[in-house]
Amino acid sequence: MGILVIEKQDLKHNIEQIKKYAKSCNENLKIIAVVKSNGYGLGLKEYSNFLIDNGIDFLAVASVDESVKLREYGIKEEILMMSSTAIREDIQKMVENDITITIGSKESKEMLIDVLKNINKKPKVHIKIDTGFGRYGYLYTDIERIIEDIKELQQFCEIEGIFSHFSTSFYKEKWTRLQFERFTEVLKILEKNNINIPIKHIGNSSSFIRFPEMDLNAVRIGSAFLGRIAVQNNLGLKRIGYLESEISEIKELPKGWNIGYSNTYRTKRKTKIALVPMGYAEGYHMKLESDMLSFKNKVRDVIRAIKRLFKDTKLYVEINDKKYPILGRIGMYHVTVDITGEDLKIGAIVKMNANPLYVDSSVRRLYK
Ligand SMILES: *Cc1c(COP(=O)(O)O)cnc(C)c1O
Repeated sequence: MGILVIEKQDLKHNIEQIKKYAKSCNENLKIIAVVKSNGYGLGLKEYSNFLIDNGIDFLAVASVDESVKLREYGIKEEILMMSSTAIREDIQKMVENDITITIGSKESKEMLIDVLKNINKKPKVHIKIDTGFGRYGYLYTDIERIIEDIKELQQFCEIEGIFSHFSTSFYKEKWTRLQFERFTEVLKILEKNNINIPIKHIGNSSSFIRFPEMDLNAVRIGSAFLGRIAVQNNLGLKRIGYLESEISEIKELPKGWNIGYSNTYRTKRKTKIALVPMGYAEGYHMKLESDMLSFKNKVRDVIRAIKRLFKDTKLYVEINDKKYPILGRIGMYHVTVDITGEDLKIGAIVKMNANPLYVDSSVRRLYK
């Protein structure tokens, strides 16, 4: 099985670039590093500590579990759990662990106040506003409710922040501007009501790069740290994460021989292949196979195959700094590589680009 390699130097470079760019946008812009989903696959503990060692002092996650884990790892920095919840046990855990709590509904507010009857603490709270994502947060139109709840919460908590979330900042500018306007409108009304909340944030990686004018005074950055974002940028971010393994077998296949699951590839000539025991699929691509009988998946497979005909969506591995095409599908633990005409030996090191987010957590992460 391969290992997932994270080049520390590249990651450090990305953090520095993002910090520098943030400073150029706004001298006092606060960076909240989002480390949800096992740190975007980089490993929650190691990645969070790496960020902190490189000057980040505010983390955010999307589940109570991950927020508590960070405390168990001994992390002392501020941690925002970005999803609001009205579940008693979850709120209790967050209060006990000094997690900054998101409140986005009357129910979550009531439950938090109820929990605080039994615990002598004054937690930090961020208020979440739904400006058109349709997930967590008070509807931006519910302004009276928002004002009333904030005033009540002020007696029990420190209301440190208020935020919202873009649904399509990597793509639709008009919609993003509309969400931003809705949010700033809420902020204005709050100010008129003498409610002053220090940290205001709506931006994520894409908006931070495309629309720095929407930064307010904090941004929540996730994918940009990995250099894996859907938008153009000139920050020179490096792509973080690749799988590394070695050639375990070499063999010759005749012309017209199928390779891999679902017969998606057939050799066009006599082909020398190298077998490499690594698969970033690790469940990801296999899901497709396991319910292959579903009509939807079949349609999806056909669409992908057609796209591949028109675009160079071939996948490659790197051996000794040279690219070699992968033949057929990537398996759970194996890839088949075309090395026709090449003099490569068993044991040669093979690298394959892989978004860490999709690499199963059972694969070892190596920071080097
Ligand atoms: C994931 C997430 C982010 C970070 O998004 P990126 O596009 O990866 O920077 C910010 N805010 C919330 C609420 C998120 O869930």
